[in-house]
Amino acid sequence: MKTIIKNVMLPGDTSLVNVLIENKRISKITKENICATVGDDIIEGNGNLLISGFYNAHGHSAMTALRGYADDLPLRRWLFEKIFPAEDKLTRRVVYNASMLAISEMLSSGTVSFSDMYFFMDETARAVIESGIKANLCRGYTSDEDTDMSTDIRFAESKRLVSDYNMYDDGRIVAEMCVHAEYTNAERPVRTIAEYAKENGLGIQLHASETESEHNECIERRGKTPIAWFESLGILDSPVTAAHCVWVTPEDMKIMAEKGVSVAHCPISNLKLGSGVLPFSDIADAGINIALGTDGASSNNRLDMIRELQTAAILHKGISRDPVKVPAKQIYEVATLGGATAQRRFDCGKIAEGMRADIVILDVHSIHNIPLYDSYSMIAYSASSSDVLMTMVDGKILYRNGEFKTIDIEKIKAEAESTLKGFFYR
Ligand SMILES: [Zn+2]
Repeated sequence: MKTIIKNVMLPGDTSLVNVLIENKRISKITKENICATVGDDIIEGNGNLLISGFYNAHGHSAMTALRGYADDLPLRRWLFEKIFPAEDKLTRRVVYNASMLAISEMLSSGTVSFSDMYFFMDETARAVIESGIKANLCRGYTSDEDTDMSTDIRFAESKRLVSDYNMYDDGRIVAEMCVHAEYTNAERPVRTIAEYAKENGLGIQLHASETESEHNECIERRGKTPIAWFESLGILDSPVTAAHCVWVTPEDMKIMAEKGVSVAHCPISNLKLGSGVLPFSDIADAGINIALGTDGASSNNRLDMIRELQTAAILHKGISRDPVKVPAKQIYEVATLGGATAQRRFDCGKIAEGMRADIVILDVHSIHNIPLYDSYSMIAYSASSSDVLMTMVDGKILYRNGEFKTIDIEKIKAEAESTLKGFFYR
């Protein structure tokens, strides 16, 4: 069966085209008519904008359970006094319901794939499998000097996630390793993670230089920056997605470029937690791949990539006092191709023949999008997640005109409200 999407615009072009989707991929983009046969799915695009779906490169989806639970606190107090103790109470049921809620929010706002670091990841994997979204999943990893890797449950769960889910459904799920951060880990276990990832060709997700104090305390403790510490332990010998990187030094950037590290830029989380602002242009100029992430719903509090990319687009202009910085097309590419690259999904993140059909259609007829001069400008400055008319992953429609095709949204909302509300106060 084929899917034909008729009369849509593509980013950067106002002429209308038709798009043919077969075997999970975009097989043809043409101004000519595409002949349909019986059973084909034909979608009338009504002159709307067809773009690549978004790749959310950093987050903790089950943290929707903690949305609004601990706001307006400094990061260390937020993390050590509120989040970590609350997370000790987590159950499988909470993680599944919160993951489903997160996936629903992401699909309805145009996200086709997300990177995730958390606990009970087989429950998040179950939500990914059921919903049809893509994900790069890793088990949040923390350790200390006494951690014995031969008996460590967190390391065992990390390995099990890989053996159970890596490359599930033609790579829809990619399992990766994790080092939560420098300040939550010890040297020996991190070395073992590095070796395991390298031996098994796995990517690694981590947090790095999120706050100034984290960055400086690492230098005091280890005599080097978090990035240099990760490098010294072999972590950067595998493909790494490093979240935040707000306080990285020019020397760190050199290492990151050399090692092919991707940065997951999380502007709203960094702003809300008062962590600072990513040196976006320096990182881009160093030749480092930049992706975009929402981070968890406890530090954002939305998982809305349109809101995220719009924040990034204006933030860097304001902070540099230069309106030319981070133009609309660049931030669109960061949120799409940059994320797909970080997730090592090299046939994703771009609307072109042969690429995976991870597609979003945006409503150009919304009041706030009229008139349309430049579709990149619409995405970066005027669009809203309410403009998402359709989200397709690997050629399969998962969300269209407010309806979820794989998720019983009323059930998910009711379950989430009954299990999550007040859970951490009990
Ligand atoms: Zn995070």
